Amino acid sequence: MGLAQGRGYLAIPGPSVVPDAVQRAMHRAAPNIYQGELVEMMDGLITDLRDVAQSTGHVAIYIANGHGAWEASLANILAPGDRVLVPATGLFGLGWGRHAEAMGAAVDWLDFGNSATVDPDRIEATLRADPEHRIKAVLATHVDTSSSVRNDIAAIRAAIDAAGHPALLMADCIASLGCERFEMDDWGVDVMVSASQKGLMMPPGLGLVWFNDRAAAVQARLDRVSPYWNWTSRAAPEAFYQYFGGTAPTHHLYGMRAALDLIRAEGLGRVWDRHARLARAIWAAADRWGSEGAMRLNITDPALRSHAVTSLSLTSPDATRLRGWTEEVAGVTLGIGLGMAEQGTPEADGYFRIGHMGHVNAHMVLGALGAIEAGLAALDIPHGSGGVSAAAAALAAG
Ligand SMILES: *Cc1c(COP(=O)(O)O)cnc(C)c1O
Repeated sequence: MGLAQGRGYLAIPGPSVVPDAVQRAMHRAAPNIYQGELVEMMDGLITDLRDVAQSTGHVAIYIANGHGAWEASLANILAPGDRVLVPATGLFGLGWGRHAEAMGAAVDWLDFGNSATVDPDRIEATLRADPEHRIKAVLATHVDTSSSVRNDIAAIRAAIDAAGHPALLMADCIASLGCERFEMDDWGVDVMVSASQKGLMMPPGLGLVWFNDRAAAVQARLDRVSPYWNWTSRAAPEAFYQYFGGTAPTHHLYGMRAALDLIRAEGLGRVWDRHARLARAIWAAADRWGSEGAMRLNITDPALRSHAVTSLSLTSPDATRLRGWTEEVAGVTLGIGLGMAEQGTPEADGYFRIGHMGHVNAHMVLGALGAIEAGLAALDIPHGSGGVSAAAAALAAG
């Protein structure tokens, strides 16, 4: 007895919902890559990518997903044997660090588990214990999409500075860019990675790396950089798109133009505000549901929660049952639990995630919450009542 016909909501934390305007922009014949509109579009794209990161630095565009952006950033900073500090707060922090290890770096791990933020004091202490300055970079995850924790990137910069350490600060903003406040220059971030399919509202396929002059100077001292990942030509569109980097990601560039137009039309501050307000509605519903039964928000302190993704726990296997119900009966696809089993906490069947990043509005969030509430009732999963009303009240309160 499905009620899923109609437009579905892919409420997973990436790939996210692709706006019609982005789809329309990508639906076109193959363009000329050597001259004309595509080439003329590049300067504006770079300008708007800088803006979305609040950066005045360089932007390199790769045909890649987020894992590719991870590798790109590391390939331009690390030589085998170099040392990095990785404060991990979930699966994605661990993942970036493991990429560094696999590329020959020595990793100092600070594992904060999967329901807490990075403690900047421990970063400062670790860097103080490195008087020879062997640690070349700190790899910090802004929002870890598995745990849905948001780390204070500016506080991590302050910790590096307090230790008087020259390590670069590298940030993974794959889940957060275009959703949460992020100010690359003001927060002292040297390298930032993101990808097209989350807050940037596009299909997967573009990996993006922002870097400042400090990071460029570190790259210039490397003996060699793998040619595909070398960001120097990638960040010079006139060179990359015509000669050096291989064929340009033509249709994705048109899609990105449309996505950045949407962000610009709304205003970046309003984009951040919309995500914050929608997140508060989701938390209000979850608090009500959790007043009876087993449902809990994975991150207890609202100030530490992402505005783009919410990770929740239920008794196993109820999370999997619930996801099945909302998708099959209501047309809402929820995200799977990720990385929780790996760190010794209950198996993935006991977690689910709601993606609320990018092209998401109040009726979509209320619809997803209504589907969850109906699923909880249909499946006899114990929960407190009134979640959707609480979410509506939160939205009404502004
Ligand atoms: C999605 C995500 C990644 C990985 O991106 P892919 O495109 O799936 O390779 C890395 N880090 C974070 C924080 C993410 O949200």
